[in-house]
Amino acid sequence: MNCKKAQESILTDYIDARIEDKQKNLIDQHLIYCRTCKNFLISIKKEVINPFISVPRVVPDESLWTRIKQTIEVEELQQVKLALVPGFWERWKSAVHIPRPAFALATIVTMVFMISSTGQLFFSGPVVKINGQDQVEYLSSLIDESVVMNISNDSRTPIEKYFL
Ligand SMILES: [Zn+2]
Repeated sequence: MNCKKAQESILTDYIDARIEDKQKNLIDQHLIYCRTCKNFLISIKKEVINPFISVPRVVPDESLWTRIKQTIEVEELQQVKLALVPGFWERWKSAVHIPRPAFALATIVTMVFMISSTGQLFFSGPVVKINGQDQVEYLSSLIDESVVMNISNDSRTPIEKYFL
């Protein structure tokens, strides 16, 4: 075992006495001949462990938990009472207070009307219904026009003009 590994183990498991026997033996063997790690262990014990050993263990007063528990219970009870008081709906109404109910209603009606009319525009097909036959005639007229335009413009190449 090298010094780095030994000191890492000393800092963690060795000091907590949570180390496996095999690993502990390896460190103990290392400590027999390595003065550096031996001193490291001594200083760690002195600086880290001993201060806590001398500190008296503080045990909280028995009544502390009882008081905490009582406080929690009282708060829970108050929350339940608040939820069940008769004036709950009154308080709820005041929370969402509408100063001018008629105006609010008019706004809602307008919004519903706008949404429904817009919805009709966008979702229930075209407003102006075009007859299928009319569409075909219109499209064919466009095509005829373009054909006529092509002929009049005479976009043939000189070779095409010669042979055709
Ligand atoms: Zn060492």
